[in-house]
Amino acid sequence: MSDCLVVGGGIIGLSLAYELSRRGMAVTLVEQGEWGGQASSAAAGMLAPLKEFASPGPMVDLGMESLRLYPQWAQELEEVTAGDVQLSLEGLVTVALDEQESEELRAKYLWQKEAGHDVHWVNGKELREVEPLLTERAVAGIYSPGEGHINNRLLLRSLVTACRLQGVTLLSGCVVSGIAAEGGRVVGVETSSGPIRAGHTVIASGAWAGIMMKMLDVAIPVRPVRGQIAAVSSEGIPLRTVIFGKSGYITPKKDGKIVIGATEDESGFQREVTLAGLASIFQGVMPYVPALHAAAFLEAWGGLRPATADGRPLLGPVPGWEGLSLAGGHFRNGILLSPVTAKRMADYLESGESGQIAPFLPSRFLS
Ligand SMILES: Cc1cc2nc3c(=O)[nH]c(=O)nc-3n(C[C@H](O)[C@H](O)[C@H](O)COP(=O)(O)OP(=O)(O)OC[C@H]3O[C@@H](n4cnc5c(N)ncnc54)[C@H](O)[C@@H]3O)c2cc1C
Repeated sequence: MSDCLVVGGGIIGLSLAYELSRRGMAVTLVEQGEWGGQASSAAAGMLAPLKEFASPGPMVDLGMESLRLYPQWAQELEEVTAGDVQLSLEGLVTVALDEQESEELRAKYLWQKEAGHDVHWVNGKELREVEPLLTERAVAGIYSPGEGHINNRLLLRSLVTACRLQGVTLLSGCVVSGIAAEGGRVVGVETSSGPIRAGHTVIASGAWAGIMMKMLDVAIPVRPVRGQIAAVSSEGIPLRTVIFGKSGYITPKKDGKIVIGATEDESGFQREVTLAGLASIFQGVMPYVPALHAAAFLEAWGGLRPATADGRPLLGPVPGWEGLSLAGGHFRNGILLSPVTAKRMADYLESGESGQIAPFLPSRFLS
């Protein structure tokens, strides 16, 4: 019997399983499909807490801590697995195309600066020095030199290898169909391959976490928010920097692709790419980099972000049930938040202390 069973082999489940195993626990990780086959491989891999969170508070703090953890986390995974994860923390720009957008951005810049973050207010000319392919229409923006991106698909591959080398029991193609409880204590799960028992069970099943909570009549809502996203070839478009605009982002990757995205639309558990979705992605980004009009289209895909009602993740014990925790609801930022989630959840599971995860406890949704 494992000390800990983790349900869901996305970035969150894999990161947590690896961290717990590093700390000496016997861990089993169960995934219904392929490792990272859902939201985690659909992501753009952006590591951008200052761009993502609109106001100061626990999300910015969590995101910044995770960003700080990334270089060592990535280096360790690269050493352990002898594979590159293409971490790039070389900065990004958030761009305003008119005075109104500029005013909105400026307000954001001011609180970030006051909080001591490494951000710079830049005018249109300076923006084009950072990124020469930016449109002449760019009037001002925020340059944030410490944010960036990673190749999330390579990161997932590395984590699977690292878990395997660390001795995690990895079960893919194994569907969890029920949660096993004795009295008020969860003792494991029922699966398509039979029962699995463990000292503690962590649900890290992404957009499906709410469904799993319903198995125990616990009403913690997690809903899928589709993201449609595309890649074009970087040939002839030598972008240097990640660009965020009002309704889209442009990420030059190290593998010859430029990833552009993404929609936020709700269609239940459907993750198809629609023509409306594609149109909105391309219309959202082309004004920022005119050279993109000539880009060769490569592919488009969709994924389901796990969203909570207040935009914060769910980390920690499930009230009313001993031996059961949640690690999910990371919405647009699960790749960014994976190292800090693994660390804080592992700290909690080792010590029983929930102070570090207090703003994210699932109990906030239960009266
Ligand atoms: C288009 C798009 C772009 C994004 N861009 C970024 C970005 O740039 N930066 C960033 O930080 N984040 C980004 N995100 C968000 C990020 O992808 C998610 O927050 C993150 O992947 C969530 O990870 P997860 O492990 O919780 O979920 P998932 O990756 O969805 O993993 C959950 C796993 O649980 C499994 N599962 C579900 N039910 C069961 C069951 N019954 N039995 C067994 N297994 C089960 C699923 O098969 C799945 O593999 C993006 C998301 C999308 C869709």
